[in-house]
Amino acid sequence: MAWDFSTEPEFQEQLDWMRQFVREEIWPLETIADELTQEQLDRVYAPLQEEVKRRGLWAAHLSPDLGGQGFGQLKLGMMHEILGTSAFAPNAFGNQAPDSGNSEILAMAGSDEQKERWLQPLLAGDLKSAFSMTEPEVAGSDPTTLRTTAVRDGDEYVINGHKWFSTNGSIADFLIVMAVTDPDARPHQRASMIIVPADTPGVDIVRDIGTMEHPVTESFGKLGNHAEIRYENVRVPVDNLLGDEGAGFLIAQHRLGPGRIHHCMRWLGVSSRAFDMLCERSLYREARGGPLAEKQTIQNWIADSAAQMHAARLMTLHAAWKMDAEGASAARREISLIKFFGATVMHDVVDRALQIHGALGYSTDLPLEAMYRFARAARFYDGPDEVHRETVARQILRGYEAPADGVPTEHVPTRREEARRRFADILEAVTAND
Ligand SMILES: Cc1cc2nc3c(=O)[nH]c(=O)nc-3n(C[C@H](O)[C@H](O)[C@H](O)COP(=O)(O)OP(=O)(O)OC[C@H]3O[C@@H](n4cnc5c(N)ncnc54)[C@H](O)[C@@H]3O)c2cc1C
Repeated sequence: MAWDFSTEPEFQEQLDWMRQFVREEIWPLETIADELTQEQLDRVYAPLQEEVKRRGLWAAHLSPDLGGQGFGQLKLGMMHEILGTSAFAPNAFGNQAPDSGNSEILAMAGSDEQKERWLQPLLAGDLKSAFSMTEPEVAGSDPTTLRTTAVRDGDEYVINGHKWFSTNGSIADFLIVMAVTDPDARPHQRASMIIVPADTPGVDIVRDIGTMEHPVTESFGKLGNHAEIRYENVRVPVDNLLGDEGAGFLIAQHRLGPGRIHHCMRWLGVSSRAFDMLCERSLYREARGGPLAEKQTIQNWIADSAAQMHAARLMTLHAAWKMDAEGASAARREISLIKFFGATVMHDVVDRALQIHGALGYSTDLPLEAMYRFARAARFYDGPDEVHRETVARQILRGYEAPADGVPTEHVPTRREEARRRFADILEAVTAND
């Protein structure tokens, strides 16, 4: 039976290098990113990205024939755990959301021409992309309600609609837009994915939305912003359709599986960084005659956080392993489990780390308040907790059925009666011997 938790020594070396590289070269960027324009940021990134390419760690999520490393989800999980420690790290490794998910869509559903025109430059880091599905007017958690339309007119689609929270929409060179192509089809066959170059007439990037993530300094056109976009009579060639017409949900399902697990992996990185701060603080802060580390509540926080993080890590890596072994569809339950569990673990660990730092934790002198705001969003992007719980519960319940007679299977008096019948001989002998 194969059941192995070890890491190949060569890959462990790469992970060790990554850990040091991210800490020394990327973490410092966090403190000055607000002072830099996107163009300056790109200049800072260029040599870092070169170094990552030289080490053979660029775009690790895709297969080698597509310019990636073909590491599979398990190795990627360990890498993302390190990249997740900083929001700025994935961009240096060519696998930041949403580009990583979009490159997976192009790899899976793109034609040869689409791959050449959009995927190769995306992988090379020469283009940026966005995924434009959620709309303010309808529930993002139920995309069968989407209203954006793409109507065929000769050799073109004419797109009309209103989207928001298209991450990186304001810096993207192209957008992958989810639009209804056949309103009369069955709900999950109505929508398609279409590539829309950002400079197409009619694409109106209205604003980058102020969020909990960036509550004070509203900026426009920066990595990680979330755009509101209006599509007004946007015309693109029918060749920009990804896959078949009506295959939008199918493709989204394939994209979201790996995308979700990559998020969970990164959250482990956030959790572990917050955990380090929690532990460090407990050792030097003194209150009521001793360090906080000696208070039972703090010890509970440390132990509970360690246990939750360990569980989340094993669940994430198990889901990754299952995806590698059996594919994303087979791992749906595992992915949903870790999506809501991992988000809660990150939230709880960051919350405890913030709490132990008191006013300092609440201040912008530490990254904890930003981590806390980041952690909050994780509970609904890529599917709210409630929807993932629903998916898990439904799948689990398929393995059960209600008792035909309405009596619970474990009902003790019923089971006792059955056992008495079954062991009547022995029971009678015992009674006779009494
Ligand atoms: C930081 C961030 C980045 C994002 N990036 C992108 C992006 O790049 N592209 C994109 O298209 N979208 C993006 N989104 C949007 C995201 O995908 C949606 O917010 C998400 O799908 C939820 O949709 P909604 O906001 O419309 O909430 P709704 O669908 O209106 O849901 C609101 C709430 O209703 C409840 N609910 C919903 N369904 C159920 C149910 N079945 N049972 C019980 N309760 C339920 C939940 O509490 C849920 O949180 C991003 C969002 C955030 C916050």
